[in-house]
Amino acid sequence: MASRNLDDLHPALQPLAHAFLARCQDAGVTPLITCTWRSGAEQDALYAQGRSAPGPRVTNARAGQSAHNFTLNGQPAARAFDVVPLVAGKPQWDAGHPHWQIMGRIGTELGLNWYGRPGAPFREFPHFELVKGIA
Ligand SMILES: [Zn+2]
Repeated sequence: MASRNLDDLHPALQPLAHAFLARCQDAGVTPLITCTWRSGAEQDALYAQGRSAPGPRVTNARAGQSAHNFTLNGQPAARAFDVVPLVAGKPQWDAGHPHWQIMGRIGTELGLNWYGRPGAPFREFPHFELVKGIA
């Protein structure tokens, strides 16, 4: 089971994630964290989905390749978190809903790399990642 705990984020990402959640709340958006860290085995199971296992393809990253798999000194230190906005208490997965753009703007203002932006390496609206170069 992948972690949803902000404590499993990279130390540089934790304060940004807390700020992200607070600013979203101020803007009337309620993000639900769906994933912070996941293990290599969990990553490989996710990679298999839509390939050797049933379901839609949800990732192009194998174990160790995802920002969600990152560790520091053997401890979880994910360089990304995934979120979905709650609307009337339910996850709103339709990326056309305006709350996605509000979350994207806030994450971008905080210096995060939002994969929902035009020109992202691949479009993945729930994914906010620590920029490269922060050790
Ligand atoms: Zn992600």
